[in-house]
Amino acid sequence: MYGPVIRRIVLPSGEKIPVLGQGTWHLAEVREQREAEIAALRLGLELGMTLIDTAEMYAEGETERLVGDAIGGRRDQVFLISKVLPSHASHQGTIDACTASLRRLKTDRLDMYLLHWRGSVPLRQTIEAFVELKERGWIRHWGVSNFDVMDLIELWRIPSGPDAQTDQVLYNLAHRSPEYNLLPWCREQDLPVMSYSPMDQGDLLSHPAVRGVAERNDITPAQVALAWVLRQPLVCAIPKSGSAARVQQNAAAAAIRLSPEDLTELDLAFPPPIKARPLETL
Ligand code: NDP
Repeated sequence: MYGPVIRRIVLPSGEKIPVLGQGTWHLAEVREQREAEIAALRLGLELGMTLIDTAEMYAEGETERLVGDAIGGRRDQVFLISKVLPSHASHQGTIDACTASLRRLKTDRLDMYLLHWRGSVPLRQTIEAFVELKERGWIRHWGVSNFDVMDLIELWRIPSGPDAQTDQVLYNLAHRSPEYNLLPWCREQDLPVMSYSPMDQGDLLSHPAVRGVAERNDITPAQVALAWVLRQPLVCAIPKSGSAARVQQNAAAAAIRLSPEDLTELDLAFPPPIKARPLETL
């Protein structure tokens, strides 16, 4: 079962990642759904959504255990991302958190390790730990999440800071503030942005404008929301679904191009930002 080949974007390191990956927040919260969720993740891999995003925070480690089971025997197909909590992001705390994530994920390496959001630990300490983890071969790349432009500028001033490979942020039709200055800044640095909650956690899917565009194109509201995010260069998205049928829909969105008429209609319902606003987070 293979879908259309999913377009890829290039990380600053030169490595390519698919523009559509799979989120995992809220997976592994209901024991009875475990097998269906594992099947959904595996289907997503077969359909080319080979990037999986997880975090030590999700279901207090249980989500990483589920992901570890889902990718067993398939590890080499996967670009695996996890995240360290800011409360663990001291130098030694980061090393320890990574050790625990690797154990739960039943793997010897992460493809990318992100600082989940900024906390009180000086950024320099976390970055030094990322550099050490890379030297040890436990992580292949690192990046950040929920960083606004000023945070990135600060990061760029720290030794090794510009080695970051992505900023994972809230970006969807209902949260367009990154378009004003974050996306342009990242494009200037060739830094890919990873859109989390690309369907606004499902809230976008009942919006009349999204439904209207979906009906006119004979596609689903989820596909409208995802194709809209993917219209931007150097942006990828990590929709989450624990259902195989929905994963199939989501993967197909990578091949959908919205027309200028669709985009105008969506702009009217969700106006683009006209001034800088702080980055929103969940
Ligand atoms: P999403 O925008 O991906 O929406 C997920 C919701 O949409 C779920 O309820 C899911 O339900 C539903 N859904 C998925 N596909 C479809 C479909 N085709 N049709 C109808 N409903 C659908 O929200 P998330 O917040 O989960 O964001 C995605 C990922 O981003 C997270 O899972 C996580 O990995 C990451 N993230 C990172 C954050 C950070 O701070 N770095 C913060 C938030 C998220 P169902 O599963 O039943 O299909």
